[in-house]
Amino acid sequence: MSIAATSLQAYDQLRVTSNPSLTIKEKKRKCAICRTEFRTFSSLVKWCSPEHGAEVAMRALEKKRAREAKEVRQADRARREKLKTRSDWMKEAQSAFNAWVKERDFDLPCVSCGRHHNGAYHAGHYLSVGARPDLRFEPLNVWKQCAPCNLYLSGNLVLYRQELVRRIGLAKVEWLEGPHESKKLTVEDLREIVKTYRARAREMKRSRNA
Ligand SMILES: [Zn+2]
Ligand SMILES: [Zn+2]
Repeated sequence: MSIAATSLQAYDQLRVTSNPSLTIKEKKRKCAICRTEFRTFSSLVKWCSPEHGAEVAMRALEKKRAREAKEVRQADRARREKLKTRSDWMKEAQSAFNAWVKERDFDLPCVSCGRHHNGAYHAGHYLSVGARPDLRFEPLNVWKQCAPCNLYLSGNLVLYRQELVRRIGLAKVEWLEGPHESKKLTVEDLREIVKTYRARAREMKRSRNA
């Protein structure tokens, strides 16, 4: 296109100078690169000089490459999503949910030891996932907790319960401790959890930083 248009411009100019009777209407245009006004006989020419013609061609090529790369990325993502197992979705759902818990409790101290500190925080389950898988994604059962309490003190549960009673009331704590219908989450359920909690966490983060 670039070469064709450039030679066409040369041809038009030659035709005009060699035989003025063949003059076709000259148009004023603005260069796509530098916005300088120039005159041309060809509607294909959108540049003031060969240099800027090359620039136009290069930009078009870059745009095309970016579009192709994006298509490849999208196809890759779709393929990876298809290959995800239930356990992959479970991990992703837990991590989205935990991130939301930490965002929700952003201003709260560790649920067990009550410390505000600069170390890492986890989302700590009151009733563990192993013991009570049905409460894995229960918002009342999971709170921001410091890494030492979560990792080395087995959740520091005596203090955790005291604080939980203070935060949500004894009735709700006893409800957590009572029986729950256990329901096997499908991939569709897990996908929904990922989507919902990611969106909520994003929203909270945005309003916190606003
Ligand atoms: Zn130009
Ligand atoms: Zn702690």
